Amino acid sequence: MTANPTHTAIATDIVIVGGGLVGGSLALGLARHGVKSTLVDRLPPAASISPTFDGRASAISASGQTLLAAIGLWPHLAARAQPILDIRVSDGPSLLFLHYDHRDLGEGPLGYMVENRHLREAIAAEITTNSALINVVAPATVRGFHQVADSAVVELADGREITAKLVITAEGKASTLREAAGLRVTGWNYAQTAIVATIAHTAPHNGIAHERFLPAGPFAILPLQGGHRSSLVWTEAQSRAEHYLALCDDRFVSEIAERVGAFLGELSLVGPRFSYPLGLQFAAGYVKGRLVLTGDSAHAIHPIAGQGLNLGLRDVAALVEILVDNVHLGLDPAHPTGLDRYERWRRADNLLMAGVTDILNRLFSNDIAAVRLARDVGLGVINNIAPVKRFFMRHAMGTVGDLPKLMRGVGL
Ligand SMILES: Cc1cc2nc3c(=O)[nH]c(=O)nc-3n(C[C@H](O)[C@H](O)[C@H](O)COP(=O)(O)OP(=O)(O)OC[C@H]3O[C@@H](n4cnc5c(N)ncnc54)[C@H](O)[C@@H]3O)c2cc1C
Repeated sequence: MTANPTHTAIATDIVIVGGGLVGGSLALGLARHGVKSTLVDRLPPAASISPTFDGRASAISASGQTLLAAIGLWPHLAARAQPILDIRVSDGPSLLFLHYDHRDLGEGPLGYMVENRHLREAIAAEITTNSALINVVAPATVRGFHQVADSAVVELADGREITAKLVITAEGKASTLREAAGLRVTGWNYAQTAIVATIAHTAPHNGIAHERFLPAGPFAILPLQGGHRSSLVWTEAQSRAEHYLALCDDRFVSEIAERVGAFLGELSLVGPRFSYPLGLQFAAGYVKGRLVLTGDSAHAIHPIAGQGLNLGLRDVAALVEILVDNVHLGLDPAHPTGLDRYERWRRADNLLMAGVTDILNRLFSNDIAAVRLARDVGLGVINNIAPVKRFFMRHAMGTVGDLPKLMRGVGL
């Protein structure tokens, strides 16, 4: 991204507030179809592509990958992405009760592991390539907005204003614009922290993603490109997380080894540790006049199923489809028919996933014998009935439901 040096008022049709993974993808999706936007972020463009900014890797579903290809990001990522060939779920470190093997469906990998730093670099590079269609205003913090007769005015902390027909927020969980519009959110904290770290290991991962349900919460071991590195998402009780985060490298790696077991050989830590407080947050409405919510500003969920960004990408694909239609028909981009459709379409899907992740986390983040028995029986049933298992595999791949065209490989 390159910063806009002017300090005058800006007028635009579409302004996207938040240039993270969702906002950046949205600007690119629109640009790909000739639609201009202004992209605002409070961070200087270089900050979010620094290697220490975001240590996570995202499990991108098969349909998410189709979208990334449609908006020009996949050529930057293909060689750096790790195909997910198998998913193995176990209760505790040893008892395997669910095994998804991509060969059972014969439709290619179940998804891809992509390091967020690579995704951020790809987005930044494509934004630069599309600078004629994407006007970047950064660093610039949005502090509020108001709606006038036929437009909305976004107010920046430095006193500038951006007038637009449509304001899309992709500000993440703590959205200033959602608050300013009075769109209510429901949610709760899980009293859990996700500790994220990358490990190198002497034995190959063979493209297998593991999820272990431990008493404090899920512990995911996710394969990264190259065969001998994995990303860990270690869900821990908030009260214990600080203790683990403060350990010296050797003790931290011993704690990891205790949870991972021996199958990856000798382990070592690569790069810093990161931590994220976990909670669920869901907006009651996604549209208020000329304002639309996307990504985590609309729905922030537990990472137990690696679906938060995938939902945000579905928001992107749906909104691009609707806005490109509006522009081709010469309609106001904030035409209520399109925005209502977006809200109905995306809210139902997001709510379902938020509910599923909430239930899974509650069911699996405890060690009560009766609950363990019930969940193991339930997952054993899924594992042993082939059609049921294939249904759940397709859910993990993001290929079921009312998918937007760009996630089905269909052009607009
Ligand atoms: C540990 C962990 C692991 C995860 N793993 C996965 C996974 O495997 N797969 C998956 O699909 N999802 C995963 N997720 C979820 C995923 O990371 C998020 O859903 C996604 O990053 C949300 O992106 P976003 O762009 O909506 O928000 P954010 O990433 O929060 O971006 C918001 C942007 O808005 C800017 N901004 C905020 N406020 C303002 C303002 N007032 N003015 C200007 N700019 C502003 C910020 O600077 C930032 O750039 C995981 C989440 C966690 C915590």
